Amino acid sequence: MNKIGVIGAGLMGNGIAQAMAMKGKQVILQDINEEALAKAQSKIEKSLSRLEKAGHIQRDDVTNTLSNITTTLVIEQACKDRDLIIEAVPENLQLKKTIFEQLDRFASPDAILATNTSELSVTSIASATNRPDRVIGMHWFNPAPIMKLIEIVKGIDTSDETIKAVENVSSEVGKETVLVKDAQGFVTTRALSAHMLECMRIYEEGVASLEDVDKAVRLGLNYPMGPLQLADYVGLDTMLFASEGLVEAFGDRFRPPQILRKLVEAGHHGVKTGKGFYTYE
Ligand code: NAD
Repeated sequence: MNKIGVIGAGLMGNGIAQAMAMKGKQVILQDINEEALAKAQSKIEKSLSRLEKAGHIQRDDVTNTLSNITTTLVIEQACKDRDLIIEAVPENLQLKKTIFEQLDRFASPDAILATNTSELSVTSIASATNRPDRVIGMHWFNPAPIMKLIEIVKGIDTSDETIKAVENVSSEVGKETVLVKDAQGFVTTRALSAHMLECMRIYEEGVASLEDVDKAVRLGLNYPMGPLQLADYVGLDTMLFASEGLVEAFGDRFRPPQILRKLVEAGHHGVKTGKGFYTYE
């Protein structure tokens, strides 16, 4: 699998495109928003230049990676001749089903269609296609070029061949995988949401300041990043979608705190909008 399409050039889409291109895959990155594509291009360039400065990659790797990525506004273009198409549009089931219906129409019948959903039903997304055996969850983590894991989600009809092919391509781009059932939130989103939503409630109750909740978890529990800072990086809109889905499946213990809902209503989605729990330059 050498020809990859990535749908959605936001936080995850541009990271996935970079991770794939750094390992020699030919990537077409698509978005409906021209500004998002320009931002993605510049984020990838900055990320590569940081990796070069840190001595992790050479100048040639930067040039080769950039030449492995092309961008388009047209979904049909991003499907043409692709072996694997990875969808990374916002966490909304109806939107994802509409996209998969189009991917199914435009991609070659052999292509595998993967969703980067954090917690939606892969089986339901696959039902929008005529190839549910070749639809799979490929759940990456942020930042995609650095994070080691891809959580592979088997929908009800996902075939063993599809799982093998996606495990292989993940390994080719230097990732470890775990195979999980198509249960709401899989392993990681369910575990992480429980932790992060509780930390938001601790802050909301005034038990400690924003900075001290993060510091307590970072230094006391030895987490690399505080939960509220991490929520800003994940995207508060994504966190809210995820927790609403988890409430449906598991009830009140995943109910989103008011502070999360209010920040999202105000358009403060975290790092990507410049403001979330914290304010960013
Ligand atoms: P994002 O908001 O940063 O990016 C989404 C991109 O999709 C935007 O650039 C938007 O313009 C584009 N888009 C919207 N509608 C589109 C369409 N019809 N066709 C093509 N592009 C379209 O979101 P994100 O954080 O990158 O999340 C994307 C997916 O990845 C979600 O399903 C999310 O749950 C999942 N995910 C997110 C994280 C995270 O840490 N943020 C981690 C793992 C998985």
